Amino acid sequence: MSNVRSVGWRAPGRVNLIGEHTDYNDGFALPFAIEQACTATVTVLAEPVVVVGSAQRDDEVRLALADLQPGAGEWAGYAAGAAWVLRRMGVDVPGLQIRLDSTVPTGAGLSSSAALVCSVGAALNDLLALDLSPAQLLTLTRNVENDFVGAPTGGMDQLAALDCTEGHALFCDMRTVVGEQVPLPVGDDGAGDLAILVVNTRAQHQHATGEYRARREACEQAADLLGVDALRDVAMADLPAALSALPTETLRGCTRHIVTENDRVLRTVELLRAGQLDAIGPLLTESHASLRDDYRVSIAELDVAVETLLAAGALGARMTGGGFGGSVIALLDEHLVDAARQAVTAAFARQDFTSPVAFTARPSRGAHRVAP
Ligand code: ADP
Ligand code: MG
Repeated sequence: MSNVRSVGWRAPGRVNLIGEHTDYNDGFALPFAIEQACTATVTVLAEPVVVVGSAQRDDEVRLALADLQPGAGEWAGYAAGAAWVLRRMGVDVPGLQIRLDSTVPTGAGLSSSAALVCSVGAALNDLLALDLSPAQLLTLTRNVENDFVGAPTGGMDQLAALDCTEGHALFCDMRTVVGEQVPLPVGDDGAGDLAILVVNTRAQHQHATGEYRARREACEQAADLLGVDALRDVAMADLPAALSALPTETLRGCTRHIVTENDRVLRTVELLRAGQLDAIGPLLTESHASLRDDYRVSIAELDVAVETLLAAGALGARMTGGGFGGSVIALLDEHLVDAARQAVTAAFARQDFTSPVAFTARPSRGAHRVAP
């Protein structure tokens, strides 16, 4: 194997079934990997440079290893950042060529960035025989987004891209950073008659990153005022007392969302473990209302999609991902999928929104090696 100087790894995007904005509050989330994925092919170069190309981009980016600095490379930083993080860890990183090819739409709330950083991280772990533990690989990929790109993501996306398995959602405890597989019998595996329809609204809010940071800060401030490490530590039973101790509606709304959302994740996991997928719909819809009214991260496109899908017979529907654009998911009878898709397209046309793109999701496997 010592002569292998080129490897290929594929890592998927994800749909978060429920548990939104909880990851940076040490809370619970329930993502599953989708079929859409990023493939990274990484080759050792003799020159001390990182060269990054993408089938989705016309420009190739070339960065000297010695000059790698956080923020460099724009889109290519999601790939080149791994070399910087590894060097910071003391790894002697050789010159690298990184070729990317992804089917995950960007900025759609489906975590194309985690698919990218995880395919590259897993490929480098393999190529350079680093023998990283799953926890170390997770830290590496998360540090690329947090410390190199400067995206303050909470870690759930990377955990999903690395550890999900086919036919399952991953019950993530973001305090211990451990995931547990929970059966999710949807899609064309013949096991169930329910489907998850994903509607990419293709709406993108300019200020999404700033809004995300503001929510993070509000959560930290609320936790400080309540004297807990993170909002994860506020139990449902203690929510009324916590709310009356907070001075502003913003802090109360954020706290109410995180505490009730954690509770909804736990109830969803219980139902899935009991084989009652058809009973989780109301929890999904409640999650959307909470994100819209308490956390205030929804926009008109997301609300219209949710309302239209519910009117088309979905058992439940919610925005998925950080909000301010991105995608909506709906749980529905697979026979209703085509009509629901058409209803959303028609509703968007009536509102003069950009035409949405919809697909049914199949819970898929996390990062894995592919032929280079
Ligand atoms: P999301 O993760 O929700 O799709 P992000 O803003 O976190 O949205 O990440 C999207 C960014 O990731 C893109 O703007 C781009 O910089 C980078 N990216 C993702 N996929 C690719 C790709 N196939 N080629 C080049 N850059 C990509
Ligand atoms: Mg992302």
